[in-house]
Amino acid sequence: MLRTFVPQVCFQEVPQEISLGFLCTGCQIGCRGCHSPQLWDENKGEPLTLLTFSKWLVQYQGLITCVVFFGGEWEEVLLIQLLKEAKLQGLKTCLYTGRNDVSMSLKAQLTYLKTGPYIDTLGGLETPNTNQRFIELSTGQLLNAHFLKE
Ligand code: SF4
Repeated sequence: MLRTFVPQVCFQEVPQEISLGFLCTGCQIGCRGCHSPQLWDENKGEPLTLLTFSKWLVQYQGLITCVVFFGGEWEEVLLIQLLKEAKLQGLKTCLYTGRNDVSMSLKAQLTYLKTGPYIDTLGGLETPNTNQRFIELSTGQLLNAHFLKE
């Protein structure tokens, strides 16, 4: 079971894409200084099934180019189903995970992957010393530079 908050359109989380972002609850990583502690409680949010996900995609058809999941890798079988559905609809796919890596089967369904926990002394993607990595998986290209603050 995957629970998420109502998805929001986001413009900055995936470079050069207009994304529909799904914030998944139940994150177990517990980064100190986490900006989204509301995601820790697995009972928050509403269940996201293939059916409800497909309805969201219909609602945003023509308005988005990508879907991004913030967490959800702990429900891998379901997440893979959802990513496949997004790809069938012609969308790119992205996962923000606090882990340092995810499985090959998950990566096979992803266009972009952001890895790494938030470490407050290193900062997030907008800082040059971050431990986090934002990668375009087909090319292996690191896209962190898109997030750096001027
Ligand atoms: S992975 Fe993200 S949501 Fe989870 S604790 Fe770390 S910063 Fe918070």
